[in-house]
Amino acid sequence: MQNLVIAIDGYSSCGKSTLAKALAKKAHCTYVDTGAMYRAIALFMIRQNVTRKESIIKELAQIHIDFIPTEEGQHVTLNGKDVEKEIRTLEVGNRASEISTIKEVREFLVAQQRKMADYGGVVMDGRDIGTVVLPDADLKLFMTARPEVRAQRRYDELVAKGEKPVFEEVLKDINERDYRDTHRAESPLRKADNAIEIDNSDMTPEEQLKKACQLYDETFKKLYKSIFGRDADSNVYYD
Ligand code: C5P
Repeated sequence: MQNLVIAIDGYSSCGKSTLAKALAKKAHCTYVDTGAMYRAIALFMIRQNVTRKESIIKELAQIHIDFIPTEEGQHVTLNGKDVEKEIRTLEVGNRASEISTIKEVREFLVAQQRKMADYGGVVMDGRDIGTVVLPDADLKLFMTARPEVRAQRRYDELVAKGEKPVFEEVLKDINERDYRDTHRAESPLRKADNAIEIDNSDMTPEEQLKKACQLYDETFKKLYKSIFGRDADSNVYYD
């Protein structure tokens, strides 16, 4: 039996990628950060000074996005260059949120994301994974946290990177991004009907991982039994 396909969606800065990475490691799956793909396109457009929608769509043909394994985990590449560090700024995040409203940009990335999950064994996080990209995922999680909690986490991250953010601006940015992500016409952020919601405002990363592993476990056992008609040995599928 191949490893499961897990979809993790949720708001900005609510710890999706931390959880997704940790779960992927435990379950020996590949982690796919779809936000990094939107950010890589945004970075390309910033560098080329492309702002008009029609031009953005035309430029997509010049873009090749991939992931490479590194000691720090998967890094996104833009036309063969590792851009993991360059994409993690507020400017690129905001631009990513804007360009992600364009239908053609989404179609371009969704096709690639589906291919990445073709053989199973994937934990993919984003905004539309459970609803659009992988509607048949074996397990869907929907992460939420209070905006103030998310803003504080984002603020701490930026400070750790040596930036000098203003908390109110970070919070405003989070609220604006939430609004754009949930109100856009194309694949707005919403919880898939069969997704399990985790509000992690008051949870540590360890507690979140424990909960996700429990859910993974239950999903795997249920699936195994439905295929083989008997209980799975424990520990055959993850550490
Ligand atoms: O998750 P992250 O903040 O890195 O994503 C950057 C932006 O890309 C988000 O604000 C969101 O607008 C967009 N995005 C998306 N669909 C995804 C992943 C990210 O629209 N699957």
